[in-house]
Amino acid sequence: STLFNELVFTDSFGALGTEFSTPQPPTPLPEPYLIATSPSSLALCGISPEQAKTSEFIHLFTGNQLPASSQPRAAVYSGHQFGQWAGQLGDGRAILLGELAGLEVQLKGAGATPYSRMGDGRAVLRSSIREFLCSEAMVGLGVPTTRALCITGSPMLVMREQPESTAVVTRIAASFVRFGSFEHWFYRDDVTSLKNLADFVIQRYYSELSGLENPYAALLRKVTKRTAHLMAHWQTVGFMHGVMNTDNMSILGLTLDYGPFGFMEAFNPQHICNHSDNQGRYSYAMQPQIGEWNCYALGQALLPLIGSVDETKAALADFGLEYQSKLAALWQAKLGLTCSMEEDDALISAMLSMMKINQLDFTIFFRRLSDCYLNDASMDDQLRDLCVDRDALDQWLSQYRLRLTKEASVDAVRQQVMRRHNPKFILRNYLAQQAIEAAQRNDFSEIEKLRQILANPFDEQPEHELYAALPPDWGRALSVSCSS
Ligand code: AMP
Ligand code: MG
Ligand code: MG
Repeated sequence: STLFNELVFTDSFGALGTEFSTPQPPTPLPEPYLIATSPSSLALCGISPEQAKTSEFIHLFTGNQLPASSQPRAAVYSGHQFGQWAGQLGDGRAILLGELAGLEVQLKGAGATPYSRMGDGRAVLRSSIREFLCSEAMVGLGVPTTRALCITGSPMLVMREQPESTAVVTRIAASFVRFGSFEHWFYRDDVTSLKNLADFVIQRYYSELSGLENPYAALLRKVTKRTAHLMAHWQTVGFMHGVMNTDNMSILGLTLDYGPFGFMEAFNPQHICNHSDNQGRYSYAMQPQIGEWNCYALGQALLPLIGSVDETKAALADFGLEYQSKLAALWQAKLGLTCSMEEDDALISAMLSMMKINQLDFTIFFRRLSDCYLNDASMDDQLRDLCVDRDALDQWLSQYRLRLTKEASVDAVRQQVMRRHNPKFILRNYLAQQAIEAAQRNDFSEIEKLRQILANPFDEQPEHELYAALPPDWGRALSVSCSS
């Protein structure tokens, strides 16, 4: 059994202490089969394409049989859900197998744990495909994220609104520690565990901070910065997470826990992608301020280690500037601007209002804008075709061209930069839905096709033009709930 001999899991998280996780073997699934793999994730884990074709691979990543080196465990954490303290949550259906090449490997949907509460510990095929495709798509887009290694399936059904096929998605990240992992110990008044966790995170992931006078304040500052940058990435690619609870916020600033997420299509800043989010707490427009709110929750939890409210506030105060500067840099690249000018903020807010008036498809607008010329309107029609209020578009385009003139923008250079920053392909809900429906008929080819297309979202890929088109009518109103 080669794979089992060759894969050696380490257990740094387990070594941190028994209070942070509970040993928990996965619950086997009957007749498991392979649904999808990500070649680049396999490479990160040191697994060869040949090894990924073996039945050992399927058994391992379904949780049916583990190498001796794996000490499977479920981690405990707490969190704020929709702004309310929710108390203890924890890995209710994720089981950590250990680390491969320094990356934590988690099976999601591998059975109940002590933290499952009312849940069954399973993940349905539908949500597993969505997580697999989206996390790998985010890699292609250059957005910080946890990754996916593979999906396996089983004929076993689980009950949701209706019976659904079950699956296991294997995900990998340097760490799955969340803001809520810290909140857990703060709300239990256990400063010793809080400190042990913080020291572990600093030593393993932020080692440059370990010698500092107040490493905990520095940690908060770094996490705040990464979170602010992540929000800027999300806003400029039109990604909506849907459930930005503090238990879904990564201590490494990664996009974590793909549930009812969505990509913006017809632009509406108030868009809510999570069917269960009645108040719109996690709407597109709210994401940056919720990101900051979540950093405050982390700051509150770290306060006993930082030691002073002023230092905690000072670390959190970086959020605004970090967000604004990252956002400005990302918009600048999307608009093909090589420097910043005072009028750029006005140019971008005018653009966003014009996009809203015209309900422009977020991705197609920027991709088509990348084709425009400075002194020649011949490519403008493909933008005008998208618009109801063409005057609003024309007005904005002249403002944009004026700005381009001020920096003597060169068409060919700008267009090339813009095509590297404005993706042609994103994981539209309806594309995921098509792959899901095919998979439910045991055809997994659409998952693989989408995975490949989305791995290079900035490439023209003329043979896949349909995947870059506007969604069909049926695909516009798809709503996604938390029941996954
Ligand atoms: P989420 O909203 O996906 O971040 O999940 C919130 C909490 O519910 C986490 O502690 C999850 O582990 C848990 N959870 C979600 N779905 C299930 C399930 N099917 N079985 C057990 N626990 C679950
Ligand atoms: Mg979660
Ligand atoms: Mg989830």
